[in-house]
Amino acid sequence: MTWDFSTEPEFEEKLDWIREFVKTEIEPIDLAFGHELVYDKTHPVHRELLPALQEQVKAQGLWACHLGPDLGGLGYGQVKLALINEILGRSNWAPSTFGCQAPDSGNAEILAHYGTPEQKKKYLQPLIDGKIVSCFSMTEPQGGADPGVFTCRAEKDGDEWVINGEKWFSSNLKYAAFAIVMAVTDPDVSIYQGASMILVPTDTPGIEIIRNTGIGGEELGEGSHAYVRYNNVRVPDENVLGGPGQAFVIAQTRLGGGRIHHAMRAVGMCQRAIDMMGERVLSRTTQGSLLAKKQIVQEYIADSWIELHQFRLMVLHAAWVIDQVGGAKARKEIAAVKVATPKVLTDIVFRAMHVHGSLGVSNEMPLIGMWTSAPIFGIADGPTEVHKVTIARQVLKDYSPAEGLFPTAHLPDRVAAAKAQFADLLDP
Ligand SMILES: Cc1cc2nc3c(=O)[nH]c(=O)nc-3n(C[C@H](O)[C@H](O)[C@H](O)COP(=O)(O)OP(=O)(O)OC[C@H]3O[C@@H](n4cnc5c(N)ncnc54)[C@H](O)[C@@H]3O)c2cc1C
Repeated sequence: MTWDFSTEPEFEEKLDWIREFVKTEIEPIDLAFGHELVYDKTHPVHRELLPALQEQVKAQGLWACHLGPDLGGLGYGQVKLALINEILGRSNWAPSTFGCQAPDSGNAEILAHYGTPEQKKKYLQPLIDGKIVSCFSMTEPQGGADPGVFTCRAEKDGDEWVINGEKWFSSNLKYAAFAIVMAVTDPDVSIYQGASMILVPTDTPGIEIIRNTGIGGEELGEGSHAYVRYNNVRVPDENVLGGPGQAFVIAQTRLGGGRIHHAMRAVGMCQRAIDMMGERVLSRTTQGSLLAKKQIVQEYIADSWIELHQFRLMVLHAAWVIDQVGGAKARKEIAAVKVATPKVLTDIVFRAMHVHGSLGVSNEMPLIGMWTSAPIFGIADGPTEVHKVTIARQVLKDYSPAEGLFPTAHLPDRVAAAKAQFADLLDP
């Protein structure tokens, strides 16, 4: 198997273009408008500013790079996508300017695989074009990590399905043109066989947003993660994507991609924190010397670089495995980067924040905002503990129990066997 860490010169030129474009054209939008409006397609910034920038991205052949050529992407594959996302991760507005904003990117993949031609025309194309926003509605108020507790139900009535139940943290529902709702369609079998993914246009009667929940410092009552009740929401039969009972097959397609794409962008966030740390320690003097001359600070720099380097290689390797064998066979690698993401962000951003002292924790630097986003990476798309279970299960597939009472590495038996093998030499 070939291993290659080089980037083709033509693609490196694209990356250079993206770096410059994000810095000069998109980061000012972050600074002027904050991140709250990214999903609000009704805001003038989406009409006045983004289309021209998106045209430039398209002209470079960099639009919706997560999608294959049949859907308007270039089919670059995950490794190249990782290198692109590292740069996009430096800005909140960059993913939507490049047509790869989560959760729309994952929902587009679902519709591409499982939507009818009509659904693709009505929802997929505008989603890919960045004209609409979508929502993925799976977690329930009584639990998200364990689908076994899900109760939101869809029942067949003629050629329609009727959905009843509550969902929690349905991100961007308030802006979305449609939601993909996971509902139990057959309660007599395990949830893993009895749940379905249902396309629900948000103008369907019966969708009641109980309230929107915010993250971290957002005001109570403000936020974009809906606590929603579906009251007799009726959709036609063909809206059950992939047919009844396919929810978990579909979820795996979607969440695998989403998880690694977040990790790719986290690489960019960590690099940004190290850049800030590097500049600061070379600028600030205390007790007669630059911070950069203090051994503990040097350790911060070294540890941060090592941790980012390890993490980046892990993300790129997971991307490479997906390119080689597909996401379904890369579950261990994807789960591992998902687990590593909040930890590496927490540690590196903390150090960057710390060397800036009071300024670092102030609202005049982006660091505290970056740091508080780290735990979110450990919860969204499933908590760390659950992903560790996945890794452990996958790792243990390569092992089997010892045949006897003692482990196969138990020394007495091994030494006796080795001595028997070399008996002639040991006891001539
Ligand atoms: C910013 C953000 C956006 C989100 N967007 C969406 C969205 O768009 N759509 C959607 O459907 N959901 C969304 N979610 C919900 C997310 O998927 C759930 O929060 C997640 O799956 C965990 O579910 P829970 O919050 O109910 O926690 P619980 O399931 O109650 O778990 C709580 C804690 O219990 C522990 N735990 C859980 N399972 C195990 C285990 N097996 N072993 C050991 N410990 C365990 C972990 O510490 C875990 O954090 C989002 C969440 C966040 C934070």
